[in-house]
Amino acid sequence: MGKVIALANQKGGVGKTTTSINLGACLADLGQKVLLIDSDAQGNATSGLGIHKTEIDKDIYDVLVNEYPLAKTVIKTAHPNFDIVPATIQLSGAEIELTSQLARESRLQEAVKQIKDQYNFILIDCPPSLGLLTINAFCASDSILIPVQSEYYALEGLGQLLNTIRLVQKHFNPALEIEGVLMTMLDARTKLGIQVVKEVQKFFGKKVYQTIIPRNVRLSEAPSYGQPIVDYDPTSKGAQEYQALAKEVLAHYGK
Ligand code: ADP
Ligand code: MG
Repeated sequence: MGKVIALANQKGGVGKTTTSINLGACLADLGQKVLLIDSDAQGNATSGLGIHKTEIDKDIYDVLVNEYPLAKTVIKTAHPNFDIVPATIQLSGAEIELTSQLARESRLQEAVKQIKDQYNFILIDCPPSLGLLTINAFCASDSILIPVQSEYYALEGLGQLLNTIRLVQKHFNPALEIEGVLMTMLDARTKLGIQVVKEVQKFFGKKVYQTIIPRNVRLSEAPSYGQPIVDYDPTSKGAQEYQALAKEVLAHYGK
């Protein structure tokens, strides 16, 4: 059975998509079969993995709103062992359309069940909100990986996120856990970044990964080439740290 991990933080621009793409590719390189589900209408994970709109027939919207089989939306990426369920802009209407539907919180959970045994890891890239798409991801997941930007106000809003996790645990998914907290975009030249890391460690304790993702311009360039960092620039600092993160995640599962 695959582990389902949602990457979530209602703040935008903290590294959810970058981590989904690059953790996914690095887990695949370590012999894991990985599926990334893009659940953000921006479709950044989809385009960042080189999937063009013209290649997409059905996407995650059809799965959530029309109960289209998830397996039929899977596309192979150019990276071995790494598949994606794409998102397009039509997903932006999904939350409103789901509101009046039955079992609106568990649509993704039902869909993921159908393919869970075909992958070692299923990552879900969440949108920057705590709406129905993120709730669907939490209901479908075993755990949540929270990327946190190493900047001032890093902890702001995390209370709301934790509260949403507690509500989902209480009403839908009691086994849901926090997989880990990942510090991203650290600028090691500034004292502030290091201070913020310490503050987050004080709050989340051992849940914070030892791996810290540095600010690395190669990581921000890779998506426009439709490649994970390990393909775009394998010797970059960004590639090395995402490889380290993948090892840390696997170690957690005794692999
Ligand atoms: P989110 O999915 O949380 O909105 P993204 O992963 O899209 O965040 O990251 C926001 C922006 O920052 C993107 O342009 C991305 O390329 C860039 N970025 C993400 N992580 C890094 C990093 N470690 N170093 C430099 N740029 C980064
Ligand atoms: Mg994103």
